[in-house]
Amino acid sequence: MDFELTEEQKMIRDMARDFATEVVAPRAAEIDQTEEYPMDTLRQMGELGLMAIDVPQEYGGIGADAVSYVLAMEEINKACAATGTVMSVNNSLICHALVEWGSDRQKESYLRPATSFEKIGAYALSEPEAGTDAANQKTLAVIEDAHYVVSGSKNFITNGSVADFVILFCRTDPEERHKGISCLLVDSDSEGFSAGKPEDKLGIRASSTTTLSLDNCRVPVENRMSEEGDGFTIAMSILDTGRIGIAAQAVGIAQAAFEASVAYAKERQTFGKPIAQHQAIQFMVADMATRIEAARLLPYPQGRTAEGPGQTPQPGGFHGQALCLGDRRLGYRQGHSGPRRVRVHEGVPRGAVLPGCEDHPDLRRDERGPTDGRRRPSARQEVTGFSLPLQHAAAGHPTYPRSPIGDCPNLS
Ligand SMILES: Cc1cc2nc3c(=O)[nH]c(=O)nc-3n(C[C@H](O)[C@H](O)[C@H](O)COP(=O)(O)OP(=O)(O)OC[C@H]3O[C@@H](n4cnc5c(N)ncnc54)[C@H](O)[C@@H]3O)c2cc1C
Repeated sequence: MDFELTEEQKMIRDMARDFATEVVAPRAAEIDQTEEYPMDTLRQMGELGLMAIDVPQEYGGIGADAVSYVLAMEEINKACAATGTVMSVNNSLICHALVEWGSDRQKESYLRPATSFEKIGAYALSEPEAGTDAANQKTLAVIEDAHYVVSGSKNFITNGSVADFVILFCRTDPEERHKGISCLLVDSDSEGFSAGKPEDKLGIRASSTTTLSLDNCRVPVENRMSEEGDGFTIAMSILDTGRIGIAAQAVGIAQAAFEASVAYAKERQTFGKPIAQHQAIQFMVADMATRIEAARLLPYPQGRTAEGPGQTPQPGGFHGQALCLGDRRLGYRQGHSGPRRVRVHEGVPRGAVLPGCEDHPDLRRDERGPTDGRRRPSARQEVTGFSLPLQHAAAGHPTYPRSPIGDCPNLS
């Protein structure tokens, strides 16, 4: 496989990197504290084309390929995962959906302003009883006078509080399961539509995540995307293409954590030297680098096989995401890029933003306790057959009798 980047890919990556360093990173800590949605930053990203990277130029996008999207996602998410989350939703779940499934009129009215982020979209599939089980949609749409009358509720919707329109999935046929779901474009100023307060999240706090309520909300039939009953297919195809971007997001967060870990390991001293000089820390750093590089190799080749909108990638993006985020307990918390990074930062209070990561507040110390420090007494016990108090005794501690095998200086 050819891993060489094209000039256009390098240009988009460099533009994203410069913007991330100069504009996104300096505000990341503040917006994490205040949960302020970074509207100005996102609109600037819209002007640069970062919100519609693989959207054809005829609709206002850059018209680049999926690899360019992956490169830009990694750079922005390295600086701020909340900003990166909105970027991912806009590129993948909104613009991509409209390119693929929107009518000409819908492309004009919704896609074109979404590419520049003048109009903000949200993707509303999840419900209290329809998360992983997405086909279990309870939101109901009943047809009446060339309108759908929609009632129900959605939860965990990114951009929910700021959206101008919502790509909404709802049930139009109660007799069917997957085939009874349709997809509607709902304007947020429609009567009967309302958004709840943003959730108080552990990470990606500045990306608004809310509930949505629809109470007899009337939506013109012409706002249906594709045919009645196509909703589930649309929802799943959009999520599939979005996985490349989420995988790149995971890689960007992991890379930021890795760089912070290396910097901290060079700075923090124990036993008279920087912890980077302890072999156990070196092994962790090596393992982190290996895993991040492996994770990076999953979305990038998949980006090459997905030649822009309309091409559903193979599951490599998903695996890349799993490799980074799924590392035991990371999931949606996103504040952690791997147990090894957490362990390099063992001098840091739990839950605190990591030293050197003040501008990346999603990188926090895990709640778990230290690990390798506890392995040392365990190793000592395995070798000597004595636990720590007995080790003290072996060294002549007055409270304990002397050990029959004496001290073990290399396991201090
Ligand atoms: C920050 C954030 C932003 C989001 N943004 C959006 C958005 O913009 N639009 C949108 O529609 N949704 C959004 N979501 C919702 C997200 O897609 C759902 O959280 C996700 O689909 C999981 O659904 P759930 O939370 O109901 O968990 P559940 O589906 O109830 O799952 C709970 C747990 O059970 C596990 N589980 C479920 N099924 C199985 C099984 N068969 N076997 C084994 N384990 C299983 C899951 O892995 C999980 O650990 C967002 C969520 C978050 C946290």
